[in-house]
Amino acid sequence: MSAEFRVTIEHRNTTLLSASPYQAPLPAGLQATNARAPLFVTYDELRRLTQAAGFTSPDVGPGGALRITGGRTIPDLTIQYENFQQQWQRVSRTDWQFQGGVITFAVTIGVYVPDVFRGNTPAVNEIMGHELLHVHDDIRVAREYMPNQPREYYPFREHLINCRPVNQGSFIFLFRDGGDFQRRMQRRFVLECNRRGNLRHTGPAYDTYQRRITEFLGGRTR
Ligand SMILES: [Zn+2]
Repeated sequence: MSAEFRVTIEHRNTTLLSASPYQAPLPAGLQATNARAPLFVTYDELRRLTQAAGFTSPDVGPGGALRITGGRTIPDLTIQYENFQQQWQRVSRTDWQFQGGVITFAVTIGVYVPDVFRGNTPAVNEIMGHELLHVHDDIRVAREYMPNQPREYYPFREHLINCRPVNQGSFIFLFRDGGDFQRRMQRRFVLECNRRGNLRHTGPAYDTYQRRITEFLGGRTR
């Protein structure tokens, strides 16, 4: 009756990249259905979305300025029970107990590009080539990394996997309305996506990308 953890991937944009005016090579292993067209937003909106999702680095530098002038891939994770009322039952005057079933890590991905690039096909193509790497990374974090995370925390291992009863106060704190479980899983997800994102932001390929994006904006780096 232990929890079964599943992962779903959805996208903010229903339009496939291949059905948009833009194109970029698919990273090996990324399904075409997970390559969506970008959403164009202002820099202010991009900054707001980035912070609302719990991300600060790597694209936001000191003072909140966007260090990277290209796009931003923002994944959101929420916890969904297939039927919370049935999966959590009160088993005594003081205790609740998890009854098993599916708990889903529902991930929604948005790829955002500053609207100064809208219509600039070469620039957006370049940006999307980079952002698809992040999309691929974030999907892998969701599918491969997240299902193992609940067992890394004693309370979640005890109550969701070993299904030991939990007292009312802890139940409310840990699980009701998402609770600490959702907060910690979101935090883990953000940190791991950030960690892998940072790995994409070093090396010659990334320096070239940065220089090109800067040139598209009319700046000169050398
Ligand atoms: Zn990046």
